[in-house]
Amino acid sequence: MKPTLFSFKKYISLFSLLVIFGLTPIYFSINRVPKEELKPQKPYVLTTFTVLADIASNVAGDRLIVKSITKPGAEIHGYQFTPSDLIKAKGVDLIVENGLGLELWIRKFTASAGNTRRVVLSEGMEPLMIEGDAYSGRPNPHAWMSPKRTMHYVDKLVSAFIAIDPKGINTFKQNAEKYKKQLLALDNELRLHLDSLPLDQRVLVTCEGAFSYLARDYGMEEAYLWPVNSESQVTPRRMTNLIAIIKERNIPTIFCESTVSSEAQEQVAKESGASFGGSFFVDSLSNSDGPAPTLLDLQRYNLRLIKKGLAPKFVN
Ligand SMILES: [Zn+2]
Repeated sequence: MKPTLFSFKKYISLFSLLVIFGLTPIYFSINRVPKEELKPQKPYVLTTFTVLADIASNVAGDRLIVKSITKPGAEIHGYQFTPSDLIKAKGVDLIVENGLGLELWIRKFTASAGNTRRVVLSEGMEPLMIEGDAYSGRPNPHAWMSPKRTMHYVDKLVSAFIAIDPKGINTFKQNAEKYKKQLLALDNELRLHLDSLPLDQRVLVTCEGAFSYLARDYGMEEAYLWPVNSESQVTPRRMTNLIAIIKERNIPTIFCESTVSSEAQEQVAKESGASFGGSFFVDSLSNSDGPAPTLLDLQRYNLRLIKKGLAPKFVN
């Protein structure tokens, strides 16, 4: 019996030793990991809407964390931010805004979020003014809808990112050049396709006047139900005016946008004899599994819709 007891004790001691020495390397290896590796401390950037988050991510690459305050599909002009949006702003290093009166809620948001560094991407740009209607004389905020103007946004982002992450200067500049090449390719594509539309069909009829920059830069005209979504009241006068333009110009197809109801525009289509050609993505990207998860996808999706509606022989 004794030898058995002795061996049992020996096994227990051996087991204890194995446990102690077996676990020691794990304990030390945990202690050896530097704090910054346990919790990555990349600078944190928050944009007001998804389109800006996409442009910012292209410039930031892996160096920064980029998130959007508003979610895909949100109406961004008169957005009502929530307590969870403010929680998202905790520890933020930079807030990225469009400006030109787009985000009516942003001053209140930044005041609630504390004093945070901000960059306004449209700053320094010559804006197009809204003509006619209640917003006449105010700048049109949708400058990202024309790729060459998006390049201005990219340059502003590079400077703002260098200020919060100076060591990333080369990465930001390289990423910006790469993204600008993609924007230039898109610019050529838009020019080529929109130039191929019949001259008398180059009128873009939408719900919001969000296509002013695209129309100006690519030789189109525009007509809309309301100038900006923050003032999106559908009045009989606005509907009658639009119906008259559609009939006079013999416009075959009219459109709306994904962040607003298309009900009134479908009514306009019905009464004017035009077809309703679907909704564009403008103020928001789609979800990642939708047709416009990036700005480049958004532009190409809209272009297909325009061609389908306005180019009679277009098949796709
Ligand atoms: Zn808008």
